[in-house]
Amino acid sequence: MTHKITLLDRVQLTHDTHHYVFTKPDGYAFKPGQATDLAIDRDGWRDEQRPFTFTSAPEAAALSFVIKSYSDHDGVTKALSDLAPGQTVLIGDAWGAIDDKGPGVFIAGGAGITPFLGILKDRAREAKLDGSHLIFANEAPEDIILQPFWEGRPDLKTTFVVGKNAGPAHREGQIDAALLDDVVDDWEGRFYLCGPPKMEESVAELLAARGVSGGRLIREE
Ligand SMILES: Cc1cc2nc3c(=O)[nH]c(=O)nc-3n(C[C@H](O)[C@H](O)[C@H](O)COP(=O)(O)OP(=O)(O)OC[C@H]3O[C@@H](n4cnc5c(N)ncnc54)[C@H](O)[C@@H]3O)c2cc1C
Repeated sequence: MTHKITLLDRVQLTHDTHHYVFTKPDGYAFKPGQATDLAIDRDGWRDEQRPFTFTSAPEAAALSFVIKSYSDHDGVTKALSDLAPGQTVLIGDAWGAIDDKGPGVFIAGGAGITPFLGILKDRAREAKLDGSHLIFANEAPEDIILQPFWEGRPDLKTTFVVGKNAGPAHREGQIDAALLDDVVDDWEGRFYLCGPPKMEESVAELLAARGVSGGRLIREE
């Protein structure tokens, strides 16, 4: 089913990422971590659907998304960054395999943080962050989405990994075997994984080598 929703507000989070707030259709339902297919409601764009993840609470009065724009070509995310409040987009129903299966190690790359934003914000509201660990990889410190938000959650262990320009709060490099062996406290627990396809594949292999697979690995297949 297609729903038309209206942009209410957009706030810049990083140099290429914005927080978007839209109206919510009556009765629209989703679980934290789920996504929907979204298209710009304009001639020539309505068939260009792209998946984006809800970052608002399911019970909130509005729908929000955190979206990284690729300004190097005329895709949907660039067009979204030019959308003005009052303009509309089209969304389908909610879908997705990533939802809250309990505390665990959440491994994200770039905009792959968005399902965990939904899940961990929900856990923060219910004071249930204890036992969870966010490992968040980005190219550089300025790409980290909502770093102060993550650091402000005392019950959440955080590891920020950046490819370059690491400061005192970061580890420089990639998510590799050495890094995981250093920061993961419990290999018997649950792992969540979301990021660019290449990163997901390499991290999933590292996890499998440590016995993490099947129901203990939650990702969008
Ligand atoms: C389940 C799911 C949930 C997601 N949730 C989110 C979310 O909440 N937030 C978010 O930011 N992203 C999310 N994504 C990723 C998001 O869907 C993509 O970033 C989006 O589809 C890109 O759309 P686009 O039209 O701008 O780019 P596309 O045209 O689809 O291109 C995608 C990629 O190809 C490159 N590319 C393609 N064509 C060119 C070209 N001509 N020149 C240069 N580069 C090119 C782009 O740089 C980009 O890396 C999610 C993905 C999935 C699968």
